[in-house]
Amino acid sequence: MEAIVTNKQVLVSPIESMLKYNGRYGEYGGAYIPDVLAKPLERLAAEFDKHTATSEFRKEFIYLLKQYVGRPSPLYRASRLTDYVGSTIYLKREDLNHTGAHKINNTIGQALLAKRMGAREIIAETGAGQHGVATATAAALMGIPCKVFMGAKDAERQALNVRRMRLLGAQVITTTMGTATLKDAVDAALMYYAEHPESFYLLGSQVGPHPYPKMVGYFQSVIGQEAREQILLQEGRLPDSIFACAGGGSNAIGLFSGFLDDTEVQIYGAEGGGQAVQGNTAATLSFGKPTVFQGTYSYCLVDENGNPCESHSVAAGLDYPGISPQHAYLKDTGRVKYFPVTDSEAIKAFELLSQLEGIIPAIESSHAVALATKLLKGKGQLAIVNLSGRGDKDVERDF
Ligand SMILES: *Cc1c(COP(=O)(O)O)cnc(C)c1O
Repeated sequence: MEAIVTNKQVLVSPIESMLKYNGRYGEYGGAYIPDVLAKPLERLAAEFDKHTATSEFRKEFIYLLKQYVGRPSPLYRASRLTDYVGSTIYLKREDLNHTGAHKINNTIGQALLAKRMGAREIIAETGAGQHGVATATAAALMGIPCKVFMGAKDAERQALNVRRMRLLGAQVITTTMGTATLKDAVDAALMYYAEHPESFYLLGSQVGPHPYPKMVGYFQSVIGQEAREQILLQEGRLPDSIFACAGGGSNAIGLFSGFLDDTEVQIYGAEGGGQAVQGNTAATLSFGKPTVFQGTYSYCLVDENGNPCESHSVAAGLDYPGISPQHAYLKDTGRVKYFPVTDSEAIKAFELLSQLEGIIPAIESSHAVALATKLLKGKGQLAIVNLSGRGDKDVERDF
Protein backbone atom coordinates (compact mmCIF):
# COMPACT_ATOMS: atom_id res chain seq x y z
CA MET A 1 0.00 0.00 0.00
CA GLU A 2 2.92 2.25 0.84
CA ALA A 3 3.78 2.51 -2.83
CA ILE A 4 0.42 3.95 -3.72
CA VAL A 5 0.95 7.37 -2.21
CA THR A 6 4.69 7.58 -2.39
CA ASN A 7 4.73 6.53 -6.04
CA LYS A 8 5.88 9.48 -8.17
CA GLN A 9 3.14 8.74 -10.69
CA VAL A 10 0.43 9.59 -8.19
CA LEU A 11 -1.47 12.70 -9.26
CA VAL A 12 0.76 13.18 -12.26
CA SER A 13 -1.13 11.35 -14.97
CA PRO A 14 -4.63 12.49 -13.98
CA ILE A 15 -3.77 16.14 -14.42
CA GLU A 16 -2.48 15.50 -17.92
CA SER A 17 -5.75 13.91 -18.94
CA MET A 18 -7.64 16.77 -17.27
CA LEU A 19 -5.54 19.48 -18.85
CA LYS A 20 -6.64 18.76 -22.39
CA TYR A 21 -10.15 19.91 -21.50
CA ASN A 22 -8.97 23.24 -20.05
CA GLY A 23 -12.30 24.36 -18.74
CA ARG A 24 -14.48 22.79 -21.42
CA TYR A 25 -15.92 19.31 -21.48
CA GLY A 26 -17.36 19.10 -24.95
CA GLU A 27 -19.80 22.01 -25.06
CA TYR A 28 -20.14 22.05 -21.26
CA GLY A 29 -18.21 23.96 -18.59
CA GLY A 30 -16.67 27.38 -19.16
CA ALA A 31 -17.02 30.39 -16.89
CA TYR A 32 -20.30 32.36 -16.85
CA ILE A 33 -19.42 34.99 -14.27
CA PRO A 34 -19.71 38.69 -13.48
CA ASP A 35 -16.83 40.79 -14.90
CA VAL A 36 -15.36 41.48 -11.46
CA LEU A 37 -14.61 37.77 -11.06
CA ALA A 38 -12.87 37.31 -14.42
CA LYS A 39 -9.46 38.46 -13.17
CA PRO A 40 -9.48 36.56 -9.85
CA LEU A 41 -10.56 33.34 -11.59
CA GLU A 42 -7.97 33.74 -14.34
CA ARG A 43 -5.34 34.21 -11.66
CA LEU A 44 -6.66 31.18 -9.78
CA ALA A 45 -6.45 29.04 -12.94
CA ALA A 46 -2.89 30.20 -13.62
CA GLU A 47 -1.75 29.69 -10.01
CA PHE A 48 -3.33 26.23 -9.91
CA ASP A 49 -1.44 25.20 -13.06
CA LYS A 50 1.78 26.74 -11.78
CA HIS A 51 1.76 25.17 -8.31
CA THR A 52 0.47 21.73 -9.22
CA ALA A 53 3.27 21.48 -11.78
CA THR A 54 5.89 21.76 -9.02
CA SER A 55 7.12 18.77 -7.05
CA GLU A 56 7.10 20.82 -3.77
CA PHE A 57 3.37 21.34 -3.99
CA ARG A 58 2.67 17.75 -4.94
CA LYS A 59 4.96 16.48 -2.19
CA GLU A 60 3.23 18.54 0.48
CA PHE A 61 -0.22 17.54 -0.80
CA ILE A 62 0.71 13.86 -0.86
CA TYR A 63 2.28 14.12 2.62
CA LEU A 64 -0.92 15.63 4.05
CA LEU A 65 -3.13 13.07 2.29
CA LYS A 66 -1.04 10.33 3.81
CA GLN A 67 -0.25 11.55 7.33
CA TYR A 68 -3.21 13.86 8.04
CA VAL A 69 -6.10 12.37 6.05
CA GLY A 70 -4.93 8.76 6.48
CA ARG A 71 -4.57 7.76 2.81
CA PRO A 72 -4.48 5.50 0.97
CA SER A 73 -8.01 4.57 1.95
CA PRO A 74 -8.48 0.78 1.96
CA LEU A 75 -10.12 -1.14 -0.88
CA TYR A 76 -12.13 -3.69 1.06
CA ARG A 77 -13.68 -6.89 -0.36
CA ALA A 78 -17.17 -6.91 1.14
CA SER A 79 -17.65 -10.69 1.48
CA ARG A 80 -21.14 -10.86 2.90
CA LEU A 81 -22.40 -8.22 0.47
CA THR A 82 -20.70 -10.19 -2.30
CA ASP A 83 -22.57 -13.37 -1.27
CA TYR A 84 -25.83 -11.47 -1.00
CA VAL A 85 -25.53 -9.84 -4.44
CA GLY A 86 -23.87 -12.63 -6.39
CA SER A 87 -21.09 -10.37 -7.72
CA THR A 88 -17.74 -9.59 -6.12
CA ILE A 89 -17.95 -6.12 -4.59
CA TYR A 90 -15.07 -4.05 -3.29
CA LEU A 91 -15.71 -0.89 -1.27
CA LYS A 92 -13.37 2.10 -1.66
CA ARG A 93 -13.34 3.30 1.95
CA GLU A 94 -13.43 7.11 1.71
CA ASP A 95 -15.54 6.94 4.88
CA LEU A 96 -12.32 6.22 6.79
CA ASN A 97 -10.70 9.55 5.89
CA HIS A 98 -10.20 12.23 8.56
CA THR A 99 -13.58 14.02 8.96
CA GLY A 100 -15.32 10.98 7.47
CA ALA A 101 -15.68 11.60 3.75
CA HIS A 102 -13.91 12.26 0.44
CA LYS A 103 -14.44 16.04 0.75
CA ILE A 104 -11.23 16.49 2.74
CA ASN A 105 -9.07 15.54 -0.32
CA ASN A 106 -10.35 18.61 -2.13
CA THR A 107 -10.39 21.05 0.79
CA ILE A 108 -6.78 20.21 1.71
CA GLY A 109 -5.71 20.66 -1.92
CA GLN A 110 -7.46 24.00 -2.35
CA ALA A 111 -6.41 25.29 1.10
CA LEU A 112 -2.82 24.43 0.27
CA LEU A 113 -3.18 26.41 -2.94
CA ALA A 114 -4.73 29.30 -0.97
CA LYS A 115 -1.70 29.31 1.31
CA ARG A 116 0.70 29.31 -1.65
CA MET A 117 -1.25 32.21 -3.15
CA GLY A 118 -0.95 34.18 0.10
CA ALA A 119 -4.73 34.29 0.67
CA ARG A 120 -5.76 36.13 3.86
CA GLU A 121 -9.20 34.54 4.02
CA ILE A 122 -10.95 31.39 2.82
CA ILE A 123 -14.67 31.47 2.11
CA ALA A 124 -17.00 28.56 1.40
CA GLU A 125 -20.63 27.61 1.13
CA THR A 126 -22.24 24.60 2.81
CA GLY A 127 -25.56 22.77 2.76
CA ALA A 128 -25.70 20.13 5.46
CA GLY A 129 -22.40 21.39 6.81
CA GLN A 130 -20.16 18.58 5.53
CA HIS A 131 -18.17 20.78 3.15
CA GLY A 132 -18.16 23.60 5.73
CA VAL A 133 -16.58 21.30 8.32
CA ALA A 134 -14.04 19.96 5.80
CA THR A 135 -13.16 23.55 4.79
CA ALA A 136 -12.93 24.80 8.39
CA THR A 137 -10.65 21.84 9.11
CA ALA A 138 -8.30 22.59 6.18
CA ALA A 139 -8.32 26.33 6.97
CA ALA A 140 -7.35 25.61 10.60
CA LEU A 141 -4.58 23.33 9.34
CA MET A 142 -3.20 26.12 7.13
CA GLY A 143 -3.80 28.87 9.69
CA ILE A 144 -6.03 30.91 7.38
CA PRO A 145 -9.21 32.64 8.69
CA CYS A 146 -12.39 31.08 7.32
CA LYS A 147 -15.98 32.23 6.67
CA VAL A 148 -18.66 29.65 5.84
CA PHE A 149 -21.98 30.71 4.29
CA MET A 150 -25.00 28.60 5.17
CA GLY A 151 -28.75 28.82 4.68
CA ALA A 152 -30.48 29.71 7.97
CA LYS A 153 -32.79 26.70 7.65
CA ASP A 154 -29.82 24.36 7.15
CA ALA A 155 -27.97 25.94 10.09
CA GLU A 156 -30.92 25.15 12.31
CA ARG A 157 -31.25 21.57 11.03
CA GLN A 158 -27.49 20.96 11.26
CA ALA A 159 -26.68 22.54 14.61
CA LEU A 160 -23.92 20.03 15.39
CA ASN A 161 -21.96 20.89 12.23
CA VAL A 162 -22.37 24.61 12.98
CA ARG A 163 -20.79 23.97 16.39
CA ARG A 164 -18.01 21.94 14.79
CA MET A 165 -17.18 24.75 12.35
CA ARG A 166 -17.12 27.33 15.15
CA LEU A 167 -14.94 25.08 17.30
CA LEU A 168 -12.55 24.80 14.33
CA GLY A 169 -12.31 28.59 14.35
CA ALA A 170 -14.54 29.38 11.37
CA GLN A 171 -17.14 32.11 11.27
CA VAL A 172 -20.55 30.77 10.16
CA ILE A 173 -22.64 33.32 8.27
CA THR A 174 -26.29 32.38 7.78
CA THR A 175 -28.49 33.68 4.97
CA THR A 176 -32.27 33.95 4.90
CA MET A 177 -32.44 34.49 1.11
CA GLY A 178 -34.73 32.22 -0.92
CA THR A 179 -35.41 28.92 0.78
CA ALA A 180 -32.41 29.46 3.11
CA THR A 181 -30.71 26.25 1.90
CA LEU A 182 -27.65 25.24 -0.18
CA LYS A 183 -28.44 27.07 -3.42
CA ASP A 184 -28.92 30.29 -1.43
CA ALA A 185 -25.70 29.69 0.51
CA VAL A 186 -23.87 29.47 -2.84
CA ASP A 187 -25.51 32.71 -4.00
CA ALA A 188 -24.54 34.44 -0.73
CA ALA A 189 -20.95 33.21 -0.99
CA LEU A 190 -20.75 34.30 -4.67
CA MET A 191 -22.09 37.75 -3.75
CA TYR A 192 -19.51 38.10 -0.98
CA TYR A 193 -16.78 36.88 -3.36
CA ALA A 194 -17.77 39.46 -5.98
CA GLU A 195 -17.32 42.14 -3.29
CA HIS A 196 -14.11 40.61 -1.90
CA PRO A 197 -12.35 39.07 -4.91
CA GLU A 198 -9.10 38.90 -2.91
CA SER A 199 -10.65 36.11 -0.80
CA PHE A 200 -10.03 32.49 -1.75
CA TYR A 201 -13.35 30.80 -2.57
CA LEU A 202 -13.00 27.14 -1.71
CA LEU A 203 -15.68 25.34 -3.71
CA GLY A 204 -16.90 21.98 -2.43
CA SER A 205 -17.86 19.99 -5.48
CA GLN A 206 -17.00 19.64 -9.18
CA VAL A 207 -19.27 22.55 -10.09
CA GLY A 208 -19.04 26.31 -10.65
CA PRO A 209 -16.97 28.18 -13.25
CA HIS A 210 -13.58 27.19 -14.63
CA PRO A 211 -11.11 26.39 -13.02
CA TYR A 212 -13.14 24.76 -10.21
CA PRO A 213 -14.29 21.62 -12.04
CA LYS A 214 -10.71 21.03 -13.19
CA MET A 215 -9.20 21.69 -9.71
CA VAL A 216 -11.72 19.56 -7.84
CA GLY A 217 -11.31 16.75 -10.39
CA TYR A 218 -7.56 16.91 -9.93
CA PHE A 219 -7.60 16.87 -6.13
CA GLN A 220 -10.12 14.00 -6.01
CA SER A 221 -8.37 11.94 -8.70
CA VAL A 222 -6.32 10.28 -5.95
CA ILE A 223 -9.38 8.06 -5.28
CA GLY A 224 -9.40 6.45 -8.73
CA GLN A 225 -5.64 6.34 -8.95
CA GLU A 226 -5.44 4.36 -5.71
CA ALA A 227 -8.44 2.16 -6.49
CA ARG A 228 -7.00 1.13 -9.86
CA GLU A 229 -3.68 0.12 -8.33
CA GLN A 230 -5.38 -1.62 -5.41
CA ILE A 231 -7.73 -3.75 -7.53
CA LEU A 232 -4.85 -4.79 -9.80
CA LEU A 233 -2.87 -5.76 -6.70
CA GLN A 234 -5.72 -7.69 -5.07
CA GLU A 235 -7.49 -9.25 -8.06
CA GLY A 236 -4.88 -9.06 -10.78
CA ARG A 237 -7.31 -7.41 -13.17
CA LEU A 238 -9.51 -4.39 -13.74
CA PRO A 239 -13.10 -4.45 -12.47
CA ASP A 240 -16.03 -5.09 -14.82
CA SER A 241 -17.85 -2.10 -13.37
CA ILE A 242 -17.48 0.79 -10.93
CA PHE A 243 -20.13 2.82 -9.08
CA ALA A 244 -20.34 6.16 -7.27
CA CYS A 245 -23.09 8.54 -6.18
CA ALA A 246 -23.25 11.92 -7.93
CA GLY A 247 -24.44 15.09 -6.21
CA GLY A 248 -22.19 17.79 -7.68
CA GLY A 249 -20.06 14.91 -8.90
CA SER A 250 -16.73 15.17 -7.05
CA ASN A 251 -16.40 11.75 -5.42
CA ALA A 252 -17.69 10.18 -8.63
CA ILE A 253 -15.17 11.94 -10.89
CA GLY A 254 -12.46 11.07 -8.36
CA LEU A 255 -13.12 7.36 -8.81
CA PHE A 256 -14.09 7.47 -12.49
CA SER A 257 -11.01 9.41 -13.64
CA GLY A 258 -8.84 6.39 -12.80
CA PHE A 259 -10.79 4.22 -15.26
CA LEU A 260 -12.08 6.51 -18.05
CA ASP A 261 -9.52 5.23 -20.55
CA ASP A 262 -10.21 1.58 -19.69
CA THR A 263 -13.10 1.12 -22.11
CA GLU A 264 -13.78 -2.43 -20.85
CA VAL A 265 -14.79 -0.98 -17.44
CA GLN A 266 -18.49 -0.05 -17.25
CA ILE A 267 -19.04 3.12 -15.24
CA TYR A 268 -22.24 3.97 -13.34
CA GLY A 269 -23.35 7.11 -11.51
CA ALA A 270 -26.17 6.97 -8.92
CA GLU A 271 -28.15 10.20 -8.70
CA GLY A 272 -30.33 11.36 -5.79
CA GLY A 273 -33.62 10.23 -7.28
CA GLY A 274 -35.92 11.52 -4.53
CA GLN A 275 -39.30 10.18 -5.65
CA ALA A 276 -37.89 9.89 -9.22
CA VAL A 277 -40.55 12.14 -10.75
CA GLN A 278 -40.16 15.59 -12.32
CA GLY A 279 -40.48 18.18 -9.54
CA ASN A 280 -39.53 15.76 -6.78
CA THR A 281 -36.01 14.62 -7.53
CA ALA A 282 -32.36 15.65 -7.42
CA ALA A 283 -31.44 13.44 -10.41
CA THR A 284 -30.07 16.26 -12.56
CA LEU A 285 -28.74 14.20 -15.47
CA SER A 286 -31.84 12.01 -15.58
CA PHE A 287 -34.46 14.81 -15.36
CA GLY A 288 -32.63 18.07 -16.09
CA LYS A 289 -31.74 20.12 -19.18
CA PRO A 290 -28.51 21.83 -20.26
CA THR A 291 -28.53 25.43 -18.99
CA VAL A 292 -26.22 28.00 -17.36
CA PHE A 293 -26.37 27.75 -13.58
CA GLN A 294 -24.02 29.14 -10.91
CA GLY A 295 -21.17 29.90 -13.29
CA THR A 296 -21.12 26.84 -15.53
CA TYR A 297 -22.98 25.36 -18.51
CA SER A 298 -24.20 21.89 -17.60
CA TYR A 299 -27.39 19.97 -16.93
CA CYS A 300 -29.67 21.56 -14.34
CA LEU A 301 -33.12 20.85 -12.95
CA VAL A 302 -35.50 23.46 -14.38
CA ASP A 303 -39.15 24.48 -13.97
CA GLU A 304 -41.70 24.77 -16.80
CA ASN A 305 -40.22 28.18 -17.78
CA GLY A 306 -36.72 26.75 -18.07
CA ASN A 307 -35.48 28.41 -14.85
CA PRO A 308 -33.31 26.49 -12.36
CA CYS A 309 -35.56 24.98 -9.69
CA GLU A 310 -35.29 23.23 -6.35
CA SER A 311 -34.14 19.67 -5.97
CA HIS A 312 -35.39 17.02 -3.54
CA SER A 313 -33.41 14.14 -2.09
CA VAL A 314 -33.22 12.38 1.26
CA ALA A 315 -29.43 12.92 1.02
CA ALA A 316 -28.33 16.50 1.71
CA GLY A 317 -25.09 15.94 -0.24
CA LEU A 318 -27.04 14.99 -3.38
CA ASP A 319 -29.73 17.65 -2.98
CA TYR A 320 -28.46 20.13 -5.59
CA PRO A 321 -30.12 21.11 -8.90
CA GLY A 322 -26.80 21.37 -10.80
CA ILE A 323 -24.09 18.87 -11.72
CA SER A 324 -20.47 18.86 -12.88
CA PRO A 325 -19.99 19.81 -16.55
CA GLN A 326 -17.65 16.84 -16.94
CA HIS A 327 -20.44 14.47 -15.92
CA ALA A 328 -22.74 16.19 -18.44
CA TYR A 329 -20.16 15.40 -21.11
CA LEU A 330 -19.66 11.82 -19.90
CA LYS A 331 -23.43 11.30 -20.01
CA ASP A 332 -23.81 12.66 -23.55
CA THR A 333 -20.88 10.63 -24.87
CA GLY A 334 -22.31 7.51 -23.21
CA ARG A 335 -19.07 6.70 -21.36
CA VAL A 336 -20.90 6.80 -18.03
CA LYS A 337 -24.48 5.67 -17.40
CA TYR A 338 -26.45 7.62 -14.77
CA PHE A 339 -29.52 6.31 -12.97
CA PRO A 340 -31.81 7.88 -10.38
CA VAL A 341 -31.91 5.93 -7.11
CA THR A 342 -35.01 6.68 -5.04
CA ASP A 343 -34.96 7.75 -1.38
CA SER A 344 -36.44 4.44 -0.29
CA GLU A 345 -33.95 2.36 -2.31
CA ALA A 346 -31.10 4.31 -0.68
CA ILE A 347 -32.53 3.85 2.82
CA LYS A 348 -32.77 0.07 2.22
CA ALA A 349 -29.11 -0.02 1.13
CA PHE A 350 -28.15 2.08 4.18
CA GLU A 351 -29.59 -0.65 6.42
CA LEU A 352 -28.34 -3.51 4.25
CA LEU A 353 -24.68 -2.48 4.34
CA SER A 354 -24.84 -1.72 8.07
CA GLN A 355 -26.15 -5.20 8.81
CA LEU A 356 -24.14 -7.23 6.29
CA GLU A 357 -20.76 -5.56 6.77
CA GLY A 358 -20.81 -3.59 10.03
CA ILE A 359 -20.26 -0.43 8.00
CA ILE A 360 -22.79 2.41 8.34
CA PRO A 361 -22.52 4.33 5.06
CA ALA A 362 -23.50 7.95 4.48
CA ILE A 363 -27.00 8.12 3.01
CA GLU A 364 -25.35 9.67 -0.10
CA SER A 365 -23.03 6.68 -0.54
CA SER A 366 -25.98 4.35 0.05
CA HIS A 367 -27.29 5.44 -3.36
CA ALA A 368 -24.21 3.90 -5.03
CA VAL A 369 -24.57 0.72 -2.96
CA ALA A 370 -28.25 0.49 -3.97
CA LEU A 371 -27.49 0.90 -7.69
CA ALA A 372 -24.69 -1.68 -7.60
CA THR A 373 -26.86 -4.15 -5.68
CA LYS A 374 -29.64 -3.74 -8.25
CA LEU A 375 -27.55 -3.91 -11.45
CA LEU A 376 -25.16 -6.66 -10.32
CA LYS A 377 -27.69 -9.12 -8.85
CA GLY A 378 -26.53 -12.63 -9.84
CA LYS A 379 -24.18 -11.30 -12.55
CA GLY A 380 -20.91 -12.78 -11.21
CA GLN A 381 -19.08 -9.51 -11.97
CA LEU A 382 -16.16 -7.81 -10.26
CA ALA A 383 -17.06 -4.29 -9.12
CA ILE A 384 -15.88 -1.32 -7.05
CA VAL A 385 -18.33 0.89 -5.16
CA ASN A 386 -17.11 4.22 -3.84
CA LEU A 387 -18.13 4.60 -0.19
CA SER A 388 -17.88 8.39 -0.21
CA GLY A 389 -18.52 8.88 3.51
CA ARG A 390 -19.57 7.45 6.84
CA GLY A 391 -23.14 7.49 8.07
CA ASP A 392 -22.87 8.66 11.68
CA LYS A 393 -24.52 11.93 10.64
CA ASP A 394 -27.57 9.98 9.40
CA VAL A 395 -28.08 7.62 12.33
CA GLU A 396 -30.42 9.86 14.34
CA ARG A 397 -32.65 10.61 11.37
CA ASP A 398 -36.11 9.16 11.11
CA PHE A 399 -36.10 7.56 7.68
C1 LIG B 1 -21.02 15.92 -0.17
C2 LIG B 1 -21.13 14.45 -0.26
C3 LIG B 1 -21.48 13.80 -1.45
C4 LIG B 1 -21.87 14.53 -2.70
O1 LIG B 1 -20.91 15.32 -3.27
P1 LIG B 1 -20.17 14.95 -4.62
O2 LIG B 1 -19.48 16.20 -5.00
O3 LIG B 1 -21.19 14.52 -5.63
O4 LIG B 1 -19.23 13.85 -4.31
C5 LIG B 1 -21.49 12.42 -1.47
N1 LIG B 1 -21.19 11.69 -0.37
C6 LIG B 1 -20.84 12.28 0.80
C7 LIG B 1 -20.52 11.41 1.97
C8 LIG B 1 -20.81 13.67 0.90
O5 LIG B 1 -20.48 14.23 2.07
